[in-house]
Amino acid sequence: MEKQTLPFQAEVQQLLHLVTHALYSNKEIFLRELISNASDACDKLRFEALADATLMEGGAPLAIRLAVDREARTLTVSDNGIGMSAEEAVSHLGTIAKSGTREFMSALSGDQQKDAQLIGQFGVGFYSGFIVADRITVESRRAGLGAAEGVRWSSDGSGAFEVDSIERAARGTDVILHLREDAAEYLDRWRLGSLVTKYSDHIALPIEMRKEVWDQDAGAMRQSDEWETLNAASALWTRSKNEISEEQYHAFYEALTHDSQPPLAYSHNRVEGRSEYTQLLYLPASAPHDLWNRDRATGVKLYVRRVFIMDDAQALLPAYLRFVRGVVDSNDLPLNVSRELLQESRDVRLIREGCTKRVLSMLEDLAQNAPEKYLGFWREFGAVLKEGVGEDFGNRERLAKLLRFESTTQTEPTALADVLARMKEGQEAIYVLTAESLAAARSSPQLELFRKKGIEVLLLSDRVDEWLLSHLTEFEGKPIKSVAKGAVDLGALQDEAEKAAAEAAGSELQPVLERLRGVLKDRAKDVRVTARLVESPACLVAEEGEISGHLARLLKQAGQ
Ligand code: ADP
Ligand code: MG
Repeated sequence: MEKQTLPFQAEVQQLLHLVTHALYSNKEIFLRELISNASDACDKLRFEALADATLMEGGAPLAIRLAVDREARTLTVSDNGIGMSAEEAVSHLGTIAKSGTREFMSALSGDQQKDAQLIGQFGVGFYSGFIVADRITVESRRAGLGAAEGVRWSSDGSGAFEVDSIERAARGTDVILHLREDAAEYLDRWRLGSLVTKYSDHIALPIEMRKEVWDQDAGAMRQSDEWETLNAASALWTRSKNEISEEQYHAFYEALTHDSQPPLAYSHNRVEGRSEYTQLLYLPASAPHDLWNRDRATGVKLYVRRVFIMDDAQALLPAYLRFVRGVVDSNDLPLNVSRELLQESRDVRLIREGCTKRVLSMLEDLAQNAPEKYLGFWREFGAVLKEGVGEDFGNRERLAKLLRFESTTQTEPTALADVLARMKEGQEAIYVLTAESLAAARSSPQLELFRKKGIEVLLLSDRVDEWLLSHLTEFEGKPIKSVAKGAVDLGALQDEAEKAAAEAAGSELQPVLERLRGVLKDRAKDVRVTARLVESPACLVAEEGEISGHLARLLKQAGQ
């Protein structure tokens, strides 16, 4: 390749500007980003080498190295991972392939803390180097290519970058940061060491730096030829629980998800038996901005015997638990397992069952021991969890207990078990009302009689609620009934006088009803006298067993 100067894609330029400004007060994260890229590059090499062992080129152990040159004021982050070809350097470091960029730009809030978090979520990590560097030079050679096919990429982070071919014997990548004057702290061995411990301790590869020794003659510290390892260098989940602090679990979560809020809960277990695996699963505190996007890369990472296999291994958890983050490391799966194979594997089925049970126990534990936290979880992810009632027959009962609903008599969302406990004597069903919004539900005339009688009605306004109710027809033996369907029969709750009055009105009003039935014959199936209203003159109800008015509206909206 001839030496060329190429412009950054317009989005990259905008992004560079934003990243360097938004993150200025949080400079140090650049190191975490570059180390995470180096670690990804080693994971990729290990993965590709499963199919082609020659890529390891002799097999020196994979490692990440930090090197400083105080005279030149450079910090270099090196790895002997997969490396980049010249084309890859141009496309990976000059454009943003991901379609999320525009979305990212519009999501920026101006609040630096929040924006820093977003930048992580969108994975624009490499460019964060420009917060501390006025020039970044990348030298790389892709595994499997010849020494003549190295590449040098260099940019000052304004409009353009240069690329050139170089000779490079070593496989992998050096990212050389020419530090700005005000970033000289990143030349300090102790500063770097503490950043590695803070952000990158869980990285499974050694992160090494030259040992510094006292030089008697010079009367100063000097770098020796020996390397020392700055991090624990073993994957966090492979260590035993009692060696890991809560802080380390939280740091690992942050590295995994780029979510700067600590998780609500986590669960770390080594499972033995028919299928052997380690699971480290987290419940996030809040929903990511794109929870509803089904293509987003999230969920659980799959490792096989410590080798990274894939992100977002959907087969490892049912869809209704897609908010769970974490790692599963299997001892039994073949290393060359593909997504297709995952769907059919017996081991994967066992892992999925095991992970599902774990997550449900985590949720039960929260609901029981930290109800406030559980409500926080419910507000963020409740609508997703509801899908499980229809999808996971085996766990339906456990899921039903985890549901929470707004109610006419409570200020906080409430559990079905509590509704049962509050039932009036003689009440034979749990009553619910679905509507487009909570406000619409609260002001519905269908509630008049229930309100008068002091009977609790649950108010459901999520899109999935109609579907939920079609699967959740009873709870602990009590039927769940919509107050908007059929004739309301409150059974024992209605006194004799009321029943008699309704009957009398029924016969007295017979001629009026006939008349109305005639007028509305194409539009209403029947016209009845009702006891359900107290103040309103009339309301629409659906026949028992038919879809409700709310669902009919939803279906119409969806064009059905
Ligand atoms: P992300 O890591 O989320 O993909 P980055 O901006 O951090 O985004 O990196 C952009 C891309 O540049 C990476 O996806 C990878 O293809 C390439 N890259 C960055 N650093 C390295 C490296 N050390 N070795 C190989 N490729 C790298
Ligand atoms: Mg990255």
